[in-house]
Amino acid sequence: MSNTLKNTAKGTIPFEIEFKNLIASQQKLFYSHATRSVSFRILQLKKLKQLIKNNEDQLHKAVYEDLKKSEFDNLTTEILPIYSEIDYALKNLKKWVKPKRVKTNLLNFPSKSYIVSEPLGTSLIISAWNFPYNLAFIPIVGSIAAGNTSILKPSEMAPATSAIMAQLINDNFPSDYLNVVQGGIPETTTLLKQRFDKIFFTGSPQVGKIVNQAAAPHLTNVTLELGGKNPAIFTRDCSLNMCVKRMVASKFLNAGQICITTDYVLVQKSIKEKFLAQVVSEIKKHNYNIDNGNFVQIINDKNFDRVRSLINTKNVYYGGNYSKETRFIEPTILTDIRIDDAVMQEEIFGPILPVIEYDTIDEAFAIIRKIEKPLSAYLFSNNKAIKKRFLNEISFGNGAINDCIMQFTNHNLPFGGVGNSGTGSYHGKFSFDCFSHQKAILSKSTWTEPNLKYYEHTDAKMKIIKKLF
Ligand code: NAD
Repeated sequence: MSNTLKNTAKGTIPFEIEFKNLIASQQKLFYSHATRSVSFRILQLKKLKQLIKNNEDQLHKAVYEDLKKSEFDNLTTEILPIYSEIDYALKNLKKWVKPKRVKTNLLNFPSKSYIVSEPLGTSLIISAWNFPYNLAFIPIVGSIAAGNTSILKPSEMAPATSAIMAQLINDNFPSDYLNVVQGGIPETTTLLKQRFDKIFFTGSPQVGKIVNQAAAPHLTNVTLELGGKNPAIFTRDCSLNMCVKRMVASKFLNAGQICITTDYVLVQKSIKEKFLAQVVSEIKKHNYNIDNGNFVQIINDKNFDRVRSLINTKNVYYGGNYSKETRFIEPTILTDIRIDDAVMQEEIFGPILPVIEYDTIDEAFAIIRKIEKPLSAYLFSNNKAIKKRFLNEISFGNGAINDCIMQFTNHNLPFGGVGNSGTGSYHGKFSFDCFSHQKAILSKSTWTEPNLKYYEHTDAKMKIIKKLF
């Protein structure tokens, strides 16, 4: 392996040539088969974990610079989940890479069938800024575990975290194995013109479409982890205090800049007033404030202006204050919301909670169906029949009943969207599969060959063949 990029006079060659060289070097390494052995993959995963561990302080500082995220939030939502993914992969990798025997049909007697997971090749991972480490490193864990070489393009909107990830990875891993390319739209566009074996994208549906189009000429395997408008339904029989407590804590975490958080609430008319009072009481308990370390700033001025513009003062039930200087927007509840209001036309990705009331569950479901399929959906209810209907009748990527966002933390659940909120999934074994091809093998023995399929085609043979099928 070589560190070719580090030794070139960076900036003196156009980045397209730099990218081409980088990808060519990664492909060369991949086809040398050096990345395939399980021992190699285990070594890289351990090295990655140690690298993050040794530099936790620097990682904390950078995420504070970008988002004013506290050390507590950084550890619980970014760093610890990465360690957990690495540990899970280390524990299971030997099992995952083993060819998996499956049954063989009688028609193929005498033979064995099995599935071999093979690495795809060179992966491009494009990540978002809202959980900059989590959304970059967890896909990398999957790519390494599956035996690929990888290039990460973190979000330019979080420049400090992007820079620290580039520094740590590029100084410690050979560029032909794992490398970080920093940059915005021009760099990403140029990267996307190259041929990869896997593209793993986290971001908005709008850019997801660009990524899909760029992948099409090469028929590259693509995973799209996108966003959407996530509903949380509260039915009249829900355990109101507990449910509101959970929803509020997850909604305002990261100042609402979470792809799987509640985007809007549907509340049954008869409990609306109680619900609103409880939401306000929970918000007050949290004392949300950037200086307290329990709230973050909006990522940049552009997003601040966008989120703030979604607050229509005539709908403000609670909150509505903001400071442009600190990019702070107070947790804000909007009521009397109609489906055609501006706040319902796009993913909010900020600390605003529109509340829509409904009479019957059919009415609530009809509202959800009018909007593109969400990444997540939540139901707060103790009604068995409604729970069943929620699962059967509403399409969404992932979700929870009587909680929000915690499904993300279970390795045994695939994490991904559906339709407009994404395609494919990852986490745990699903990450390994996401970065692998499942090669299907039928291995025949040569000691005999039933002559059923050979000429002459008799009625007796056809009878047996029909049975075998
Ligand atoms: P984004 O789509 O603007 O950017 C994501 C990445 O794409 C960045 O690395 C960016 O540099 C790149 N990019 C932006 N415009 C591009 C273009 N025209 N051509 C090529 N590349 C381009 O998204 P964002 O603002 O970083 O993140 C917010 C969105 O991401 C929300 O929709 C949110 O729901 C979604 N998201 C999804 C998940 C998930 O796991 N499903 C996680 C976090 C965020």
